[in-house]
Amino acid sequence: MTDAAAPMIRFENVSKRYGPLTVLDGLNLDIARGEKVSIIGPSGSGKTTVLRMLMTLEDIDDGVIWVEGEPLTHMLKDGKLIRGNLAHVRRVRSKIGMVFQSFNLFPHMTALANCIEAPIKSLGMRKADAQARAAELLDMVGLSQKKDHYPAQLSGGQQQRVAIARALAMRPKIMLFDEVTSALDPELVGEVLQVIRRIGREHDLTMLMVTHQMGFAKEFSDRVCFFYQGKICEQGTPDALFGAPRNERTQQFLSAVLEAG
Ligand code: ADP
Ligand code: MG
Repeated sequence: MTDAAAPMIRFENVSKRYGPLTVLDGLNLDIARGEKVSIIGPSGSGKTTVLRMLMTLEDIDDGVIWVEGEPLTHMLKDGKLIRGNLAHVRRVRSKIGMVFQSFNLFPHMTALANCIEAPIKSLGMRKADAQARAAELLDMVGLSQKKDHYPAQLSGGQQQRVAIARALAMRPKIMLFDEVTSALDPELVGEVLQVIRRIGREHDLTMLMVTHQMGFAKEFSDRVCFFYQGKICEQGTPDALFGAPRNERTQQFLSAVLEAG
């Protein structure tokens, strides 16, 4: 089943197409257990698609995605890889949590209710246990005073912190973050990044994040991948990629981003 020596995540020659448009183009990417990887790159380069494919929000067209040495998109039958059925995909995917740019909280539920819904419905947790766990997580993201508030009563930064707590409530091994500060007013960005730093330190998680916050990517990541047209154009340690990018496209992208401030 799972293989402790295998990478936590492996994209093996993964392609995704929308009609004539190839969005991921034979992508190969291994992410180690506990590794923190940032994905940067121009708009439309396929960054969100990488996370959506891992979340199995849509099918891939070619290749295989592996999680802990186990195929996510496929399953082994008589030694051959066949498309995974729903139960298989759900089981493997339950190791993964995702936080979106637009929070996506359930608007009719309080912060606490948002955080217990899936643990009760999908993990079969007892309500009291789910509530205790959710209260702990809301406390960790600094929202113990707000657990009975509805999303509309919370700032964007607070909503995003609830969304992070909600994802953690499912006890994932992998967390995906897609530009989670892009929809926030500038003064609220820091509080969300602070929470991400904290869970990076305190939880044993593999983290994959798409970000435009170059400073944060530099400080937080073990590795940065620069995407261009559905492929990794260049990758390396933050020091190497930001300090001495070798590829011309990386150089152009970074100078454009830095110029924009
Ligand atoms: P990024 O996150 O790097 O900005 P995306 O992964 O969202 O890029 O998208 C990559 C490309 O795929 C873009 O050209 C986008 O328009 C296209 N795309 C994404 N989702 C769909 C879809 N559901 N149908 C058609 N094209 C899509
Ligand atoms: Mg995107």
